[in-house]
Amino acid sequence: MELDGIEFEVSYRKVRYARVELKTGKLFLILPPGNDPKVLLEKHKDWIIEKKKFFDECKRNSADKQIPNRTETEFKELVLSLISRFSQELGVTVNNVSFKKFKSKWGICIPKRKNITFNHTLRYLPDRLLEYIVFHEIAHILERKHNHRFWNLIAGKFNDCQEFDKELISYQFKLQSIS
Ligand SMILES: [Zn+2]
Repeated sequence: MELDGIEFEVSYRKVRYARVELKTGKLFLILPPGNDPKVLLEKHKDWIIEKKKFFDECKRNSADKQIPNRTETEFKELVLSLISRFSQELGVTVNNVSFKKFKSKWGICIPKRKNITFNHTLRYLPDRLLEYIVFHEIAHILERKHNHRFWNLIAGKFNDCQEFDKELISYQFKLQSIS
């Protein structure tokens, strides 16, 4: 379907309320069965257009992004050294670190077990973004949810989270275009 030249995919799921999700520039409408997508689109039109603009900007920026040259070993050593540095800074212990292929996540933390799994594609991110993600996942050991306390922890180390998040989306586009 289409709204003002913006394409979107509709899927019906057993959800209580309709949802609009934007993932790497692609718009998804998740609807409870029996709903009309047009109504939801009209209702969230401004938000959708705003989001779409933001993603388009990230996509344009992705063209100039540089991919660092690291071997698999160098990458893993770097992650482990960041883990030991940041876990000390935050005063937590990380039990296990592993690497996996994820479709749309940079990493996952299981706070209860203190286990962190990172996406393999982190290997192609510059140091500062890698640091940002590693710190983010370790911070989840202290604060499971993305709540106010969590973002305060992050802001204590990286004062411009929004810039980092934007950079990450640009890199997501970049990595998609070369994979
Ligand atoms: Zn998180």
